[in-house]
Amino acid sequence: MNMINSQANCNDVNEDGTLTVDQALNNMLNAVTESKATEHIPLIDAYDRILARSIISPIDVPAHRNSAVDGYALRGKDLPIDGEFLSLKVAARVVAGHPYHGSLKSGEAIQIMTGAEMPAQADTVVMLEHIEKNHDAIRLDSRHKKGQNVRQAGEDMQQGQTVLNAGIKLTPPQIGLIASLGLSDVHVKRKPTIAIFSTGDEILNLGDKPQQGCIYDSNRYSLISALKKLGCEILDMGIIPDDPDKIETAFLVAADNADVIFTSGGVSVGDADYTKQVLAKRGHINFWKVAIKPGRPIAFGHLNDTLFFGLPGNPVAVMVTFYLFAVPTIQKLMGLSAPLINPQLKVRCSHPIRKLAGRTEFQRGILSLTGTGEYEVCTTGQQGSGVLRSMSEANAFIILEHDRGAISTGEFVTVQAFNGLFQ
Ligand code: AMP
Ligand code: MG
Repeated sequence: MNMINSQANCNDVNEDGTLTVDQALNNMLNAVTESKATEHIPLIDAYDRILARSIISPIDVPAHRNSAVDGYALRGKDLPIDGEFLSLKVAARVVAGHPYHGSLKSGEAIQIMTGAEMPAQADTVVMLEHIEKNHDAIRLDSRHKKGQNVRQAGEDMQQGQTVLNAGIKLTPPQIGLIASLGLSDVHVKRKPTIAIFSTGDEILNLGDKPQQGCIYDSNRYSLISALKKLGCEILDMGIIPDDPDKIETAFLVAADNADVIFTSGGVSVGDADYTKQVLAKRGHINFWKVAIKPGRPIAFGHLNDTLFFGLPGNPVAVMVTFYLFAVPTIQKLMGLSAPLINPQLKVRCSHPIRKLAGRTEFQRGILSLTGTGEYEVCTTGQQGSGVLRSMSEANAFIILEHDRGAISTGEFVTVQAFNGLFQ
């Protein structure tokens, strides 16, 4: 992994010292290159993995000419001319997997099932529903065309053709496509290992007795879940207290064992000194104020050749910054060739929202269908960045753009459904 240009410069910092979402993201994307590590795995385990080598078809698909319907195979040149009828003798019956080796004479048809290989002399199939049957003969009219209902060999894919490009995240139909080529294994990108720890003397492990002034560690749990969904291996390092030696040790262990380090908390001014000391000594670190709400301070850098994301401590800010910055950056590192599409909707907001221009806001929203079949959105109420409940009750972000001011009832707003992000 090469780290370049992760230092913010005057060109990408606004007058008040903040970066826009796009500036911060571009800095992060410019600092990572695609990981080269791959592995060869059974196709059945390849769902959601990133394809590391393009798939070249070793065969023609379909391999043989076959019937697209249940019906009767015949010679196209026997078909009746306009307004006339034709009777043919049914000479045989062929089913899929059992090719017919006899010859088809003029005046004969062969009953054929969907997918069965076409007899050598036949070039046309008439659907079962379009004939009249009389014992071992059939009668058909003149509506048919030579060549109809036949799938040609190689019609779908040809031997030597590139059918899937490296860099895609494999979906069920793509897995099926690879299987249709007879390939039982695929080369995929190795999952990146992510080391993660929470920082703060006030953070309790689950199961600890509640203590005055302390809170349970929720960020590590939401982040690990989100990282697993993204397709990462996790190195869970627990909670590290606000102690410079312990923080230094944690960073060094993480850097030796992981491709990326995630921490949450400890990036606000004053708080960040320990993190800063360690990373400045062994790598490089930036502290960026990003013009978003929630989630302003973010640290980003590297320690040796391990990437570092220092996310804010507030639980909602963690989720917002993870989705905005970590997802695209890690996907680039993982070798995804183009960002996945998570469509955003423009829907009416059912109530006013206060907002000042000059930062992008991510409000937690509930998207629902109205009686008239249109979507509308409302916020989950209290939007404090520490209010994790607002996030878990929400099913969408309401994204209020950088330059936008207050929203009035019925105005269209941009909505990003969680489905695809967190579900
Ligand atoms: P900090 O950036 O460390 O000042 O943290 C900001 C806020 O997020 C504080 O209220 C912390 O208690 C809270 N916080 C920090 N880390 C966590 C965590 N792992 N789980 C839940 N809340 C956290
Ligand atoms: Mg802290």
